[in-house]
Amino acid sequence: MEKLADVIIDRVVEALDRPFTYRVPPSLAGRVAVGQLVTVPFRSSRVAGVVRSLYSGEPGPGTREVEALRRPDPVLTPALLELAEWMSDRYLCYLAQALRAMIPAAVRRERGARPQAVWYRAVGVRRGRPSVKQEVYEYIAQHQVMDRRTVLDAFPNAGPALRALVAEEALEVLMRAPLTAGPHEGAHMLTHHQSDALSALLRTPGRPWLLEGVTGSGKTEVYLALIAEALAAERQSLVLLPEISLTPQIVTRFRARFGQEVAVWHSGLSQSERRSTWDAVRLGEVSVVVGARSAVFLPFPHLGVIVLDEEHEPSYKQEEHPRYHAREVALWRGQKEGATVVLGSATPSIESRHAAETGKIGYRRLPERVLGRSLPSVALVDMRQELQDGHRDIFSRKLQRALAQTLGRQEQVILFLNRRGFSTFVLCRACGQALQCPDCSVSLTYHQAQSRLNCHYCLRDFPVPSHCPECGSEKIRYFGAGTERVVAEVERLFPAARIVRADRDTLTRPQDYADLYHRFYRGDADVLVGTQMIAKGMDFPGVSLVGVVAADTALHLPDYRSAERTFQLLVQAGGRSGRGQIPGQVIIQTYNPDHYAVSLAQDHDYEHFYHEEIAFRSATRYPPFAELWLLVLEGEREADVSEKAGRAAGYLRQRWTRAEVLGPAPAPLAKVRGQYRYHILMKSFEPGRNTQLGKDLKRLASEIGQLSITRDPYFLM
Ligand code: ADP
Ligand code: ZN
Ligand code: ZN
Repeated sequence: MEKLADVIIDRVVEALDRPFTYRVPPSLAGRVAVGQLVTVPFRSSRVAGVVRSLYSGEPGPGTREVEALRRPDPVLTPALLELAEWMSDRYLCYLAQALRAMIPAAVRRERGARPQAVWYRAVGVRRGRPSVKQEVYEYIAQHQVMDRRTVLDAFPNAGPALRALVAEEALEVLMRAPLTAGPHEGAHMLTHHQSDALSALLRTPGRPWLLEGVTGSGKTEVYLALIAEALAAERQSLVLLPEISLTPQIVTRFRARFGQEVAVWHSGLSQSERRSTWDAVRLGEVSVVVGARSAVFLPFPHLGVIVLDEEHEPSYKQEEHPRYHAREVALWRGQKEGATVVLGSATPSIESRHAAETGKIGYRRLPERVLGRSLPSVALVDMRQELQDGHRDIFSRKLQRALAQTLGRQEQVILFLNRRGFSTFVLCRACGQALQCPDCSVSLTYHQAQSRLNCHYCLRDFPVPSHCPECGSEKIRYFGAGTERVVAEVERLFPAARIVRADRDTLTRPQDYADLYHRFYRGDADVLVGTQMIAKGMDFPGVSLVGVVAADTALHLPDYRSAERTFQLLVQAGGRSGRGQIPGQVIIQTYNPDHYAVSLAQDHDYEHFYHEEIAFRSATRYPPFAELWLLVLEGEREADVSEKAGRAAGYLRQRWTRAEVLGPAPAPLAKVRGQYRYHILMKSFEPGRNTQLGKDLKRLASEIGQLSITRDPYFLM
């Protein structure tokens, strides 16, 4: 019998997506642990790998040896290793892809072991003759606890003194920094709604909760109080925010409460910042992390709280491998690691609200804004009426008047165009009707290449009509005014106004958000024109008018979530107004003032919206009443792609008779980088069989090739 290790190697190739067995040589005996990052020989090279399991057995012929440990201690906790397996099953990714999400590249690539960090704690009182030893002791004792590196910076020759002090038990060695609550400043006396929510959360450690409350209702204050309790219990906390909400302002608020132990994690960090933050989390040196999506994989050894703020945000879903949803991963970790998970939102996702309703997660509401502040008043402008009255401008008369008044009072304005990506929809300007699929009640998308209208759900296509099928008018338009056009219009009407634009063209690096944020916050601009990326998170006390230029763009996206997204965006956008002392005003321009997503956003009526929407989902059998799978086939020759797609769909129809298989059809993005794309949409209704279905799809993908599968897709192009 020999000591053997199963290792997941860092190669993203299907044939290598399984553990490989290695012998543990005597030189490494007792030093290899599960979760350890090792170097192993593979074919003619050496690769990094993570030890998945250790056991005794007879090695097969040709079994090679683990060559070296890359770090002295494991890089992954057992929980994270298990999470990788779960992700591989759920999101159909390779284990190596899941591990890459968890271990920063700088750590995976580092050669040679880094020294294990240690801390010294002074025990009791030591009185000795003046000596280096006594000086070192007093230096540490002043701070009670200190890490070795800091001691050595101050006393480069302190090594022997430290050893002696440990030997005489004047110092105690800690393998991680002790958690301490920082300066606990600025906590508010909680309102009764807040303290009710907090005590519910505290009563049920390890349970997930939905905390619903309009912006300004004091959710963040509840998170802060919960985290303070976790700190007191020596447990770490993770606060997840959509990337764009990670403004300096929110980080400052956490630092003000918990001090420098608050670390930040987002896509703008350098490789070395990533490595040191990741290590600090792993060693318990930081107790609170405020981070974007990928922070959900940080190796907390003592996780007590996970907050997912703005939990409805689609940016929590990663669209590339591993195609995970941070909410699902957070819930998994919470359950596995005994951490309390709080999902916070003013406009919860339909899934989460439904989970709360059916008792799968707990539910608390903060029904009103703190300090008696009121919600902004929201006016709808019916753009069909504008047109009938002969006004064809981008801005309605009402919005123009409000713009003139607000700018005249030297207050700030946000103009918001909630169009996403490149999608263009087809709208009748006489009756406001977007052309819709007769079978799916989703809007049709215009495909320029074929000059046809496609339904992205049932995947049928239709000719472009010359007359509106509803009212017979010829005023059918391809809607497409973007932010640039809005800027030009403001310039034309208000030549003196200072304008900034925020969209994917102008904001490319994380630093750009911060710059724009500060510029507008300081009042260096009067008008901010932007896409959905400015609809959340950013708080500007000087803004008293928010204009939603076109409420309908998201409404007609070919996506069953379009009403939900529209409602959320309108409420969020409106929430940007009147954050300071000045009362806020919101003007929403729409061709569909009677659509429930628009009219209920006017009243901030989430409850009513949820009931409308859940009835629609139930009737059309969309999530949460089905699991959705998107299959996309790609290839250089269209005939091949279409033939393969036909075969895949045929197989699935035959094999999964109780699921619904839609398509195949050319994807809306029919050709990308020279590759033709076809898609198939699948709805499954048997929750107990999804894992099996996933495995079958994975097998199908490896048989057919160039087939990608997304479970619960957020991007259907
Ligand atoms: P949300 O996260 O729901 O938007 P916040 O927690 O940010 O709400 O609260 C909004 C504002 O009200 C903040 O300025 C916050 O400091 C303040 N606030 C929150 N709770 C209280 C309270 N109990 N008493 C006084 N002010 C509060
Ligand atoms: Zn019409
Ligand atoms: Zn359809």
